[in-house]
Amino acid sequence: MVIIMDDKIVNEVSNLYKEYYSYVIKNDLLEVPEGIEYREFGYGYFKKVDNRNISFKDGEEYKNWVLKNAPFHLYKSLSYMEFPSKSGGANKKKVFRREIAFDIDVHKTKKCRHSDDWVCEYCLEEAKNQALYLIEEFLMSDFGLSGDDLQIAFSGNRGYHIYIKPKDEEIRNIIESYEKPQRRFLMDYILGKNLNLSKIGSGWKRRLLDVFKKKKIATKQFEKEDNWKKIIEKRKNRDKIYSIINETLNKLELDEKVMDDDIRLLRVIGSLHGYTGFMVKEIKYKKLSSFNPLKDAIFNDFNEKFYNVKIKQKIDKIIINDETYNNKSKEIPASVLLFLFGHGVNFEIIY
Ligand SMILES: [Zn+2]
Repeated sequence: MVIIMDDKIVNEVSNLYKEYYSYVIKNDLLEVPEGIEYREFGYGYFKKVDNRNISFKDGEEYKNWVLKNAPFHLYKSLSYMEFPSKSGGANKKKVFRREIAFDIDVHKTKKCRHSDDWVCEYCLEEAKNQALYLIEEFLMSDFGLSGDDLQIAFSGNRGYHIYIKPKDEEIRNIIESYEKPQRRFLMDYILGKNLNLSKIGSGWKRRLLDVFKKKKIATKQFEKEDNWKKIIEKRKNRDKIYSIINETLNKLELDEKVMDDDIRLLRVIGSLHGYTGFMVKEIKYKKLSSFNPLKDAIFNDFNEKFYNVKIKQKIDKIIINDETYNNKSKEIPASVLLFLFGHGVNFEIIY
């Protein structure tokens, strides 16, 4: 990705980020991570993370820093650390607690007609469907969590961050003291990596039976028996059954490092995503199915401020707030300006 270093554009973009952060901080919409003095922060302008190992003594210091610097990318650690600003890994930082979060980050879908790093309604819909699938199939049905036990955020690009934050303080203390092997086990379960077809567990049994029914596979034997391998091996359509199982196991595009890595950073909720200019936006579970990032993750003021531009290269179309833009567009709102800038598109602002 080539970033166009046109000073005029960089200045304008910086001003928009500043304007945004003044608004969210004034209105208390920027996440102030719990136990902020134990969290590490990272930020970036032209790269995702130019710098990390930053820490703040309290929310005031943090907010003042964000107002002053208005970074294009802003992250906080999932972990709580005794020495968050020390460099050199988890041992030096002395991690003593860690939030549990999932990161869904999808690729282009078959319906997408754009280049790899662009977005459209289809891949954004796929990301949302995967978030709902993770929440409803695993976190709710298998783990017994409710919508109130989860914190859900649109990632600002093609994904969602789903934090497990049980209302029950005792349960929360237990899961936030999970070490790497326990977090790994959780991940492996969801990705079906430790699925044993000779002795299938109730969660995966329910999930696969649902899929079999949709794909018109006879399920009577599977319902009664836990040794599925024995049944499948006798079936004429066993290849089809195995491929359905495989497809189901590979349904979720989860970034495994977000669960594994002890010092992983994740975007601050309420920040802007530097590639898209979209908000990293918290969504209540009940609102998730109707959430449309191309409208609902756009800062309103950025739809009302316009620029005359000349776009000097061919680009895929982008639909923001129901308006379609492409390289022939002469007038674009700030929201589109940020998207083009973040994607390294060659354009100029005409004053
Ligand atoms: Zn797409």
